[in-house]
Amino acid sequence: MKIRTRYAPSPTGKMHVGNLRTALYEFLIAKHADGDFMIRIEDTDQERFVEGATELVYRTMENAGLAHDEGPDKDGGYGPYVQSERMKTGIYMKYAKELVDRGEAYYCFCDKERLASLKTEVVEGKTITVYDKHCLGLSKEEVEKNLAEGKPFVIRQNNPTEGSTTFHDELYGDITVENAELDDMILIKSDGYPTYNFANVVDDHTMNITHVVRGNEYLSSSPKYQRLYDAFGWESPVYVHLPLITDENHKKLAKRSGNASYIFEEMVHDGFLPEAVVNYIALLGWSPEDNREIFSLEELIQTFDYHRISKSPAVFDNVKLRWMNGEYIKAMDFDKFYEMAEPYLKKVLTKDFDLKKIANMVKTRIEVFPDIAEHVDFFESLPEYDVEMYTHKKMKTDRESSLQVLRDVLPLLEAQEDYSNDGLYQLLLKYVEEKGVKNGYVMWPVRTAVSGKQMTPAGATEIMEVLGKEEVLKRIKKGIEMLANA
Ligand code: GLU
Repeated sequence: MKIRTRYAPSPTGKMHVGNLRTALYEFLIAKHADGDFMIRIEDTDQERFVEGATELVYRTMENAGLAHDEGPDKDGGYGPYVQSERMKTGIYMKYAKELVDRGEAYYCFCDKERLASLKTEVVEGKTITVYDKHCLGLSKEEVEKNLAEGKPFVIRQNNPTEGSTTFHDELYGDITVENAELDDMILIKSDGYPTYNFANVVDDHTMNITHVVRGNEYLSSSPKYQRLYDAFGWESPVYVHLPLITDENHKKLAKRSGNASYIFEEMVHDGFLPEAVVNYIALLGWSPEDNREIFSLEELIQTFDYHRISKSPAVFDNVKLRWMNGEYIKAMDFDKFYEMAEPYLKKVLTKDFDLKKIANMVKTRIEVFPDIAEHVDFFESLPEYDVEMYTHKKMKTDRESSLQVLRDVLPLLEAQEDYSNDGLYQLLLKYVEEKGVKNGYVMWPVRTAVSGKQMTPAGATEIMEVLGKEEVLKRIKKGIEMLANA
């Protein structure tokens, strides 16, 4: 049988990492087995519909590289792929009526007042009304009369009050619940729309979905879905309910925390590479047999085995994501890197610098693109710096030695024509040899003077090459002045 999976978002907002992980796992399960992956839009809750949310799903999937084989924009013979459009075909009503005929569902005409007077229960923090099966007792004639009169109705699932229902999840195993705990959930709402609870079963079956991957908040409803499959005599799909994703404090992942966003588009905007985010998200709850961490999407497809998904909550570790992003940046082709880095460089560097040279210096040093600024800002203007920076134990330098070195090299640098990295390096090396000192004894004060920083993305002479003669001399003189007056 061909493996078929679906990503079934409700268009209610932005795609955060939890949504993307579900989509990714569905995609990987299908592609690993050479199967089909589809997008189905679950817009039955018209009140929660957010304008533009569907387009955002497409955009995110495309940017993440998760190409679907079927969907609203790509007919694969199972359409329509949008639930509101499916509803217009009458499919949900047809199946709901079939359940009514089998005694597995019933019309309910109870009005708001009556429902409000019913017993309530708090389930997972939400207050729900436990329906008392009042309308199950209506005779066929009464139902028909009500329908003929145009009385508003819903269709409810008729769950037994005795016995138990078991369903199987690939990660959680067999889960059994007492039928008495299953409320007679609404299948068709008074506006004629199916509920998600009903539509997902009808659609997964009629669209030949073989594997359903979703958040484990759906575990508690799954026995009711199982009862629907059983009532129809359909085989239920393989269920894979995913563990929660939490932040470092083990709290449910919010939309953002501090400066960090967990919305895919915003993460990309914040300087993360889509490939790195996808790679990182793949590991939120799943791990390969070895401890390997860097995977291209193609490699994930080859390696992904959903049986290795963990049940314990996955902790979103921003430090690790940043590290991973840095690894992707290091491995990036230079031209592509430059194209992405250029706007960040131009934000801080307005003078006529060789930006490609600077980009090359930072490529291996940043984790996300916005890091660029702090590495290169000193090129634009020499920062205020502490004269104490000239003192370096390991380099055996102090203020006095540094002053001497800068005073010695100033005339050499003034006389020097060749301001290439090589030319400058040879010049300073010659001075090092003549003095009989270690490289660092000279390079440290020179680098400090030209950068004003303790950490720079390149050595002294590389920096000087980019700065050019005039600026270098200005900065060396400034260093001498600071040291002399200290
Ligand atoms: N529309 C549901 C959601 O967005 C999908 C759940 C499922 O995959 O069955 O949460």
